[in-house]
Amino acid sequence: MINEKLSDKEKLAQLRHSAAHLLAHAVSELYPKTKLTIGPATEEGFFYDFLPEQNFKEEDLPLLEARMHEISKRNLPLIHKQVPKAEARKLYKDNQFKLELIDKIPDDTVGIATQGEFNDLCRGGHVETTGMIQHFKLLTISGAYWRADRSGQTLQRITGTACWTDKDLAAYLKRREELEMYDHRRLGKQLDLFSFHDEGVGFPFFHPKGKSVVNTMVDWMRKLRAENGYYEVSTPTMLNEKLWHQSGHWAFYKDNMYFSVIDETTYALKPMNCPGSFLIYKTRPHSYRELPLRFGEFGHVHRHELSGALHGLIRVRAFTQDDVHIYCTPDQIESQVVMIIEMIKKTYTKFGFESFQFAVSTKPEKAMGSDELWEKATNALKKTIENANVTYVIQEGEGAFYGPKIDVNIQDSMGRNWQCGTIQVDFFQPENFDLTYVAASGAKERPVVIHSAVFGSLERFFAIVLEHHKGALPFWLAPVQATVLTITDAQKEYGQKLVDKLKEQGIRVIMDESSDPISGKIKSAQMEKIPWMLVVGNKEAEANTITLRYLNGKQEFGLTLDGLIKKAQEA
Ligand SMILES: [Zn+2]
Ligand SMILES: [Zn+2]
Repeated sequence: MINEKLSDKEKLAQLRHSAAHLLAHAVSELYPKTKLTIGPATEEGFFYDFLPEQNFKEEDLPLLEARMHEISKRNLPLIHKQVPKAEARKLYKDNQFKLELIDKIPDDTVGIATQGEFNDLCRGGHVETTGMIQHFKLLTISGAYWRADRSGQTLQRITGTACWTDKDLAAYLKRREELEMYDHRRLGKQLDLFSFHDEGVGFPFFHPKGKSVVNTMVDWMRKLRAENGYYEVSTPTMLNEKLWHQSGHWAFYKDNMYFSVIDETTYALKPMNCPGSFLIYKTRPHSYRELPLRFGEFGHVHRHELSGALHGLIRVRAFTQDDVHIYCTPDQIESQVVMIIEMIKKTYTKFGFESFQFAVSTKPEKAMGSDELWEKATNALKKTIENANVTYVIQEGEGAFYGPKIDVNIQDSMGRNWQCGTIQVDFFQPENFDLTYVAASGAKERPVVIHSAVFGSLERFFAIVLEHHKGALPFWLAPVQATVLTITDAQKEYGQKLVDKLKEQGIRVIMDESSDPISGKIKSAQMEKIPWMLVVGNKEAEANTITLRYLNGKQEFGLTLDGLIKKAQEA
């Protein structure tokens, strides 16, 4: 029964779970020897796990869908009732999975859903009739394990989705196709940017073009940091385990760290850059006149993630943080956070994001330090962000273990949110590492540390940017910015002259050396998503001009070399 008090989301989940029953019903009619297990609704649709007599194949999906439509047309009422366990055990005497489920239910009775001749063990929550399930699609077949236990029985999972209208279903399928088409893992392969290998699971390999993008990101950040008075530092990848005990990482994070023994001493691969930065700070005394002191690093960190959690460049086991540690007085927190917020806004805009939100995260369950320190730090961040004229939300309990933070979420062109930038105020590590500065009075005081990153992880940010632009990176960031396309071989000399002149200006340019017709050259430049095609025929060679063709097919005629260089510098 559809309960009117349910939210739209809950009603949709009921429809989708009912669609899972519909699928199981179709399977039991077409392949009666299949054993049914479970079929819940998911965020995006539903699945059902089966133990088939013979494995299902892709070609079976349309057949199953057709039978589902047929059962839908029968408009069978979905009846759910509680029955004694003994009765249920009899009903499922040949299905070890259902018997196991029945045993796990603490009550004396269990729920059975019935539609026509078909029944399924189930807790309930359905639409009223099979006729209400009309707009659905089966999507994938994959392997699964009974109770998600890798040592357990292997099953086959069929996934699908169901919506209330055909329009919703079409929109869902279009979005799904788009996400698949512009998945950065697919684009990375297509555009020859990066790869992954079994020899280093979760560790990305950057190819020349991918490395070019990463370097351009680093160049941007170096320039922005220099403008804001940062110094660049670098700290070792491996450091003595003792340091991680001192920093608290060992206590809170050791399960995600890699260790190695050298000369009978245990070292850890750094999961964060902070302790290294503190050691640099501590090498000499600091005066209040030096503060705020800003150390920026591109720190390569290792964090152990479960292999199942890895996802292209989004979730890796080693990545580069654009990590910053600012040492300042409590009075300087506000001005520093305002500066970082400006850097974040400038960067995200430059990379083509129009929408981003700020969130202030407060004390988590596992935390160091007193409530009083936490309150002081949290209030400082809230006050600052209020004055920074941006919208923000409060995320209760989402702070780091050493302090409250501001997280920045980007919204991409496909409507997804990604947390990238972060600003964390830290009152505890300065205490922990005994960091000091000499105040105007001559007394030793504690600085505050602000940890911050704009990209977060360079690798992950690259993936997000790539998907956001659907592979067509903006001119300034593209690994190959321009390609010279001659109409015939007769213009090759003129073309080469253009390449040389543009390279002198630091523009990443190539020439298509093939003898393909111009239409073929344009097509391959489009495939490679090169933003500028410089088309030159006899007319251009004679007049010393260039026709500029963009990826979207728009063209500008009669450009001079100087005009083109100026355009490139402004892009
Ligand atoms: Zn059910
Ligand atoms: Zn840090």
